[in-house]
Amino acid sequence: MKKYDVVIIGSGVSSLTSAAILSKKGYSVCVLEQHTKPGGYMHCFSRFGERFDTGAHYVGALDRGQPFHTLLTYLNAYDPSVFVPLDPTGFDVFRFPEFEIQFPKGYAQVINVLTERFPTEALAIQSFFSEIQTAVQCFPTYEFSDETIDQISVMRAIETPLSVVVQRLTKNADLQAVLYSYCTLHGVIPSDAPFGLHAIMMDSIIRGPYGFAKGGDAFTETLVRAIQKNGGEVHLRKRVNRIEIENGNAKAVHAADGGRYEGKWVLSGCHPKHTFQLVDRQEVFSPAFRERMKNIKETVGIFGIYGLSSQTHSFNPLKNYYYFSNQGIENAFNFGSPNSKPSAAFLCPASRTLSAGAEKFPFSLHAASPMGWFSDWRDSSFGKRPDDYRQQKEVFAEQVFKFVGEYHPHFRESLSKYVTSSPVTNLHYNGSEEGSSYGIYHSIQNTGARALGPRTHVPNLLITGQSTLFPGILGAAVAGLRTAGHIVGIKPILKELKEIKLANGC
Ligand SMILES: Cc1cc2nc3c(=O)[nH]c(=O)nc-3n(C[C@H](O)[C@H](O)[C@H](O)COP(=O)(O)OP(=O)(O)OC[C@H]3O[C@@H](n4cnc5c(N)ncnc54)[C@H](O)[C@@H]3O)c2cc1C
Repeated sequence: MKKYDVVIIGSGVSSLTSAAILSKKGYSVCVLEQHTKPGGYMHCFSRFGERFDTGAHYVGALDRGQPFHTLLTYLNAYDPSVFVPLDPTGFDVFRFPEFEIQFPKGYAQVINVLTERFPTEALAIQSFFSEIQTAVQCFPTYEFSDETIDQISVMRAIETPLSVVVQRLTKNADLQAVLYSYCTLHGVIPSDAPFGLHAIMMDSIIRGPYGFAKGGDAFTETLVRAIQKNGGEVHLRKRVNRIEIENGNAKAVHAADGGRYEGKWVLSGCHPKHTFQLVDRQEVFSPAFRERMKNIKETVGIFGIYGLSSQTHSFNPLKNYYYFSNQGIENAFNFGSPNSKPSAAFLCPASRTLSAGAEKFPFSLHAASPMGWFSDWRDSSFGKRPDDYRQQKEVFAEQVFKFVGEYHPHFRESLSKYVTSSPVTNLHYNGSEEGSSYGIYHSIQNTGARALGPRTHVPNLLITGQSTLFPGILGAAVAGLRTAGHIVGIKPILKELKEIKLANGC
């Protein structure tokens, strides 16, 4: 048994960010991760001689002085060789049945491209992006401001749905569809999505889009190295199965192998439902809270295909490809059956450094799918799932191929090899109950003042992670910053971050 200032459960980006900050501030920290390697959704895996990412495809705000660059610099975890800038002339390709738009890097450039495509909507386009830039100023843990923010603007940014802003500005359905495209990155429909948090996601991507040069594992390593340099510990194969409560406080964390880790603070970066189930005295939670946790909605599950295509000429390794049906994003997360076409799919090159003469194009392809399609195999063991599970995955994979084939003829025939994953796979790797990709459903009802965490009913048990703020690597990192800030005080950290930002000319 060892004693620490902070015991941290899980090693996703949020946990590692908290651990890096706390260890930098002199706290003794111990991270306990159930799997054989750290990172959570940052995991890569190898197949067919290629490396594939699971939840790290691209990230924003990484130019010098921008928020993610600043945060990583502060953590001593910024390594330029880990990232690769995406194509500034068009990093995101949005394909709709009737038209295609590519987002270039930079606000002025995006506005130009959209105005060329929708000339009568010039004012709406200008206003939308100006509102995005205003909204992000409301979030000090993104903009790294230690000044007092006007709370009315903050509430307005969080309580206004994305659809209200867009529909106020334009009635053009095609333009609306483009402005809603990034909802696929958080899984919340526009009428539920808080404008301010959606704005952070768009702002970061438009300003500084980067891919991963060596996959998400290499990024995780930079965080782990920073923690270890500060004297922090990261332990693998430590599945936590109990949070011990004594006199209303968290006293220790128990691992399945019998290890017991005492901490003045316990911080969990696992899915909040899972975290609360680990608490051994459920009476610390009010009945109303337990009811809320039981009923809280999850984001959609995700289906993944990782393969090799011979259509090397169709794809650019420095671009991402979004495909939409004409059903509209409001319907993108409504499901028929595995036998029906997806409403949206996201294709990402698995290698950002593919040489021009490469014969195969390695890619990952994701589409939303509910756990319900795979729940029969929920309790089967990873790696030993039966044939009918594989057959069910095949049914949906064929639908996804057919859908992508509408944009890239003969895509299916171009595939030499592929493997698939389902929400059941997410459940195995991350413990997210419904195999949800982005944690809890980040609607207005679950964010802002109603967000879960960082505090809990147990005074020294804090939570972090994508479910406590907003999904995405940057969202999880900022969640980790907020949670660590609760222990060490957020204002001094924001001041230090602001100094780094200013020193880098932003
Ligand atoms: C398919 C997909 C693609 C994505 N693509 C992108 C992208 O391109 N860009 C982007 O910004 N975001 C992307 N995301 C989202 C992003 O990956 C996540 O928001 C982020 O990584 C979540 O981090 P987290 O800290 O919340 O924790 P997680 O990554 O969920 O990690 C939680 C950790 O806790 C561990 N754990 C759980 N239970 C226990 C226990 N009992 N004991 C010990 N350890 C435990 C898990 O093993 C895991 O390591 C994607 C997500 C998915 C699903």
